[in-house]
Amino acid sequence: MSDLVLVINAGSSSIKFSLFETSKTDPVVLFKGQMEGLYVEPKFSAKDADDNKVANETLPADAPKTHDYALRFMLEWLQTRIAGRSIAVIGHRVVHGGTTYSKPVLVTEDVIKGLEALIPLAPLHEPHNITPIKILQDLLPNVPQVACFDTAFHTTQPELNQLFALPYEFAQKEGIRRYGFHGLSYEYIASVLPSIDTKAAEGRTVVAHLGNGSSMAGLLGGVCQSTTMGFTALDGLPMGTRCGRIDGGVILHLMNHLKMDAKQIETLLYKESGLLGLSGFSSDMRDLQESDSPRAKLATDYFANSVVRETAALAATLGGIDALVFTAGIGENDAHTRQAVCHQLRWLGVDLDETANAVRSGEPRRISLADSKIAVYVIPTNEELMISRQALACIA
Ligand code: ADP
Repeated sequence: MSDLVLVINAGSSSIKFSLFETSKTDPVVLFKGQMEGLYVEPKFSAKDADDNKVANETLPADAPKTHDYALRFMLEWLQTRIAGRSIAVIGHRVVHGGTTYSKPVLVTEDVIKGLEALIPLAPLHEPHNITPIKILQDLLPNVPQVACFDTAFHTTQPELNQLFALPYEFAQKEGIRRYGFHGLSYEYIASVLPSIDTKAAEGRTVVAHLGNGSSMAGLLGGVCQSTTMGFTALDGLPMGTRCGRIDGGVILHLMNHLKMDAKQIETLLYKESGLLGLSGFSSDMRDLQESDSPRAKLATDYFANSVVRETAALAATLGGIDALVFTAGIGENDAHTRQAVCHQLRWLGVDLDETANAVRSGEPRRISLADSKIAVYVIPTNEELMISRQALACIA
C-alpha cells in the first residue's frame, strides 16, 4: 500500500526525516529521526509516534560519512519498519525559492536546474537541500518528490516590503530583495489559527518564530504582509549565534579598518554573534535564563527588546494588531521571554495571564487575560507536517 509520506530536512551536517502515514484528516507521524554529525562522526537516532527512542547509534568508523550513505542508511532502516507499505511522495524542505517558486513544486529535471540557479542566494543551505533530492531520484526513481520552500509564504508581501532602498535594478536584475524565511512554520500557524481564534485568523496577527533561528511575520487574514528576515536568514531578530539586524556600515568598517575578509565576517555574523556573542558563553536560551551573569541578562534583554520593537513595527504595517503568537523552541518553552515581551507591550494592549504563561504544555494555548485587547497565544509549530501536507497536495 502506497500511503506514506517521507519528509526530508537536510543541512550541511545533518539530515532530519519524518515519516507520515496518510489519514482521512491530517498525515500522522510514524517515525522521526535524524543523522547528525555528517562528515565528522555520524550518529543516527529515531523516535516512534509516541516519542519513544527506537534508534540511537553511532555509525561504524569505517562507514562513509556522506549525505549519500546517510540517506541509504535511513531508507534501509525505514524499509524494515514499513513492511508491505511504500512511500507515495517525498517532501523536501528547500530554503530558497527565490522569485521563481511561490508555492511547492513537483521536482523535475527543470526544477533541479531552477533550484541550482538559486544557489548564489543561499550558498550555505541550498546545495544541501538539492543533494538529497538527487540522491533519492537514484534510490527511489518512481517516487515523486516535492520541493517545499521557506521563502514561498512571503511572496505575498507588497513590493514595498520586499525591497531595500538600493538602486531598483539591484532588486530586478540581481535578486537583491527581502525574501523572508521560516515560511513553512508561518504557513502552519496560519493553517491552525482558524480553529483557535477566527478573529486572529481573519485579522491582523503577528507571529514570533523564536528558535535557534528567529524571525517574525505580520499576517493579514493569514497572508504575509511583512517579515523581519530579508535577503538572508541573518536579518531581523538576534538569534542563537546570528547577529540579526545590523547597520551595513559595520560591515564596511570591519573590512576597511579591522581588515577582516569575507570569510571572517561571515563567521562573525553567523556563528559568533547573537545570544552567544552578547552573553559570551552560550547560544542556548536555557543556559542564559539559568545564569546570574550580567552578560546573560544583557543578551536576554536584547532579545526580548528586539521582539518588542519588531512586534510594534509589524503591527504598524498591518494597521494594528489583533493577536500575537509565540512559536518555536524559545517561543513555545521560554515563559521568561514571553513575559518580558508581553510586559513591554502593555502600552499596545497586551495583558498577560501570568498563570497561563507559566503552564508548560505542548498544546496550543491562550496566555493573555480574557479582556486583553490583543490575544496572545503559544502555538507549537510543525514544519514537517506542513511539508507532508504540501507534498500530498502537490501529487493529488
Ligand atoms: P531551530 O531553529 O534549530 O529549529 P528550535 O526552534 O528547536 O531551533 O529552538 C531551539 C532553541 O530553543 C534552543 O537553542 C533554546 O535556546 C530554546 N529552548 C528550547 N527549550 C527551551 C526551554 N525549555 N526554555 C528556554 N528556551 C528553550
